[in-house]
Amino acid sequence: MDLQVCGAAREVTGSCYWMHVGQASFLVDCGMHQGGDKEEALNFAPFLFDPARLDFMLLTHAHIDHSGLIPRLVKEGFSGPIYTTAATCDLVEIMLLDSAHIQEMESEWRERKARRAGHRAAEPLYTQDDARQVPRLCKAVEYDKPVEPAPGVTAVFHDAGHILGSAFIELRLEDHGEKALILFSGDVGKPDQPIIRDPEIVEKTDYLVMESTYGDRDHPHDGRPVQELTDILKDAYRTGGNVIIPAFAVGRTQELLYFLRQISDEHQLDMPVYVDSPLAVQATQVFRRHREDFDDESKKMLEEPGGIFDWPQLHYTTTADESRALNEKRGVVIISASGMADAGRIKHHLKHNLWRPEAHIVIVGYQAENTLGRRLLEGDKRVRIFGEEIAVQAHIHELSELSAHADQSQLVSWASHFKPPKLTILTHGELSAAMTLQKILEERLHFNVVIAEKGEVFELTEVLR
Ligand SMILES: [Zn+2]
Ligand SMILES: [Zn+2]
Repeated sequence: MDLQVCGAAREVTGSCYWMHVGQASFLVDCGMHQGGDKEEALNFAPFLFDPARLDFMLLTHAHIDHSGLIPRLVKEGFSGPIYTTAATCDLVEIMLLDSAHIQEMESEWRERKARRAGHRAAEPLYTQDDARQVPRLCKAVEYDKPVEPAPGVTAVFHDAGHILGSAFIELRLEDHGEKALILFSGDVGKPDQPIIRDPEIVEKTDYLVMESTYGDRDHPHDGRPVQELTDILKDAYRTGGNVIIPAFAVGRTQELLYFLRQISDEHQLDMPVYVDSPLAVQATQVFRRHREDFDDESKKMLEEPGGIFDWPQLHYTTTADESRALNEKRGVVIISASGMADAGRIKHHLKHNLWRPEAHIVIVGYQAENTLGRRLLEGDKRVRIFGEEIAVQAHIHELSELSAHADQSQLVSWASHFKPPKLTILTHGELSAAMTLQKILEERLHFNVVIAEKGEVFELTEVLR
């Protein structure tokens, strides 16, 4: 029995683990590397394994940094099955198609550039046709119900409370009479997130493969963002300014709808809200289909007239004409993608609103360097959008607590329920974040912790109890 860490080692993206148990060879996650050119080049590097010879894969959740290379696996001969939750099956279908569309557009752009320079460009990482093969390979599993994808491998999916359908995957392994337990945290959610349930508590594992994204920081825990959002909406309602929110289409947008419904009801704000992103509209459909994964509060809210996704002031726009028509609106909330404002329809809305002193721009997620979102946060007074210089006169707000990741104290609190595992392997975090978390887990919980290196192999041996 062994495990090889193929990605997300001393970095946040590219989650991928290759395992051997007896005759079985399989993956846990197969994510895309994201960030700058250097990271993106990694997506084209040869896999450490032959996709055609894998027996199956297990998927923790739909985020692209965990699922984004599955179409490439399929292109190179992987034929499934992919075990994951029903909600993840539905979410990866729309997210991988969207990702393939982006890959095709980027490849076209590279090809035009290469042709002008007199050479040929590489083909896209994968195409929409490759992505369309993935859903039929997915096999839906229920939370907490063991499945046995191969002799000696039993998998149990526990709710990770990170995004809809997200899971910790517990594997009960057996090879030649030797037994071991291993748990993959995927991404650990945080308690009290809107819509989805809290992360499940697990108490026993021999090996723990754990994410460390926010291993070195805490989010403020004071409920301030909802109050701040309320103040922003009230001000906009009074002055007739627009509220523009760049947001990831899957998860963040739906959470915002939950908060916006709550705030509008409580303060009787009759403000129209527009979700202007075809992917967000599709993702919201998936949320509607999977209320079985909602927490009790959200299930109750869904039963009220209008629920979370259909209240009277809420509108969804998909066509380009509908989107353009929003330029004429005043006193409305517009939620649109991309979350970092570096692509997509949100750029149009920013162009039409940034110069208005009565407008509010609300940043709710992480903003990478060199993105338009980051420049706004840093207080740039002039930005270029579609080649036009725009004066920034709108109010810029940052509501960082709306993150779907557990922070340092929440990670430690989740880990504290385990009887110290034989070995804890930290992944999915920058080295400094992983090192800080390592120290805390060792000192406070007496865990034996290593920070995985890319390509590192861990032999899993029986732990005698
Ligand atoms: Zn995630
Ligand atoms: Zn992740």
